[in-house]
Amino acid sequence: MLAALARLLLDAVAPRRCAGCEAVSDPSICPNCAAAMSALPIPGVRRMRQGSAFAGFEFVEPVRAALHRGKYGGDRRALQELAAMTANRLSGPRLFTPEAVVALPLGPRRRRQRGYNQAEVIATVIAEARDVPVLENLARIRNTRPQTGRDEATRRDNVAGAFAWTGSALGGAYLWLVDDVLTTGATAGAAAAVLAHAGASLVDVVVVAAVS
Ligand SMILES: [Zn+2]
Repeated sequence: MLAALARLLLDAVAPRRCAGCEAVSDPSICPNCAAAMSALPIPGVRRMRQGSAFAGFEFVEPVRAALHRGKYGGDRRALQELAAMTANRLSGPRLFTPEAVVALPLGPRRRRQRGYNQAEVIATVIAEARDVPVLENLARIRNTRPQTGRDEATRRDNVAGAFAWTGSALGGAYLWLVDDVLTTGATAGAAAAVLAHAGASLVDVVVVAAVS
């Protein structure tokens, strides 16, 4: 009740805006942006060391803007909408349903600053779409420096030893490792290697957008 009232007051002062184009819009992604996103091609599958990487979208507008607002602007609704679209676009015979989904963890400091982990928000929606659990035992044990602007070898060094599995052995499980954006794949690759070491037989990476 109070939350609904606060929402009404907030809408009167600052109406909701589309995360993709900033047009006034009640849905977090307006119909124009949703149509533009639907028209984008689905990126090809990228081979990774522990499996393959599947992306719902290329990292282009208006997906880029919507992801940015979901990650840095506190707009969890936009992330949930993008995740639902990704799950929808990746439904099909080429991607089997995993036994569980794991979100790429944020370091504790960054998680505190942001209040949530964007990968967890996305992973929750994707896991619900496939009716499988989210496992929360992948930890980031070392804060890494931002990957932006580093070459691939430096990125790999930067994330080596950054993750640890804190759960029981994975017993040959097929998992999806979920994140918002895939760039070189160094971070996801390091996390997938930890899951494989913990016993996963196959780890496919599933992201909303891939930088080509
Ligand atoms: Zn829009």
